[in-house]
Amino acid sequence: SDHALQYPSAPNAVDWSVHYPTFAGTGSAPEFADIGCGFGGLLITLAPLFPDTLMLGMEIRVQVSQYVQDRIAALRVTSLSDPVSGPSPYQNVSVVRANSMKFLPNYFSKASLSALFFLFPDPHFKSRKHKARIISPTLLAEYAYVLRVGGIVYTITDVKDLHEWMRTHLEAFPLFEPVDEQTLRAEGKGPIIDAVYTSTEEGKKVERNGGEKWLACFRRIAVQ
Ligand code: SAM
Repeated sequence: SDHALQYPSAPNAVDWSVHYPTFAGTGSAPEFADIGCGFGGLLITLAPLFPDTLMLGMEIRVQVSQYVQDRIAALRVTSLSDPVSGPSPYQNVSVVRANSMKFLPNYFSKASLSALFFLFPDPHFKSRKHKARIISPTLLAEYAYVLRVGGIVYTITDVKDLHEWMRTHLEAFPLFEPVDEQTLRAEGKGPIIDAVYTSTEEGKKVERNGGEKWLACFRRIAVQ
């Protein structure tokens, strides 16, 4: 479990050049965070679309985070070995094995993120397990802390009850306001929304099974 893991004491203790060697010396830090990234489908889809934006996946399962790390390494090598396509589009994406529910602020500094993704999170159906959900009043304070004003929280699930749970808690939190899909598309975030719906392994599974997908997005607002 967690005690076996090494965590950075604070975001400025993280050496991002290990994760993003081609960005070393630029002072860049991750701006997109995919929480519970699973097999990495969202990150791999978004990386080439926003080549100057650093993205980090957080995944608690060892084998799964290792898989994502290997996947990114392979993509970097393949792309680099192709002189025609120019610089590899996957230099801006990386993953850490981490329990995001405990250690998110160890990785991301205040107001550093412009997007936070919760795609098909584990539902934890039983009510006594609700505090195990990735969206909870306590954790929302942390999400608001790491997001900059104007930053977006993207949530999607095929579990209606979980959708209502996430939506209700985010709506009730004073530092978030709901923002609908149309508005985000009009702001140029259509490719992100499309990736949220279709790029992840879990999203594809829901599609194969003919399940419904419930999207809810929120904007980080300033304190009144
Ligand atoms: N987002 C991915 C997708 O859409 O395909 C994965 C969805 S999967 C149902 C949920 C993922 O969250 C699992 O890979 C699980 O290991 C991970 N996870 C659960 N709790 C976590 C935590 N506290 N910190 C980091 N990852 C976590």
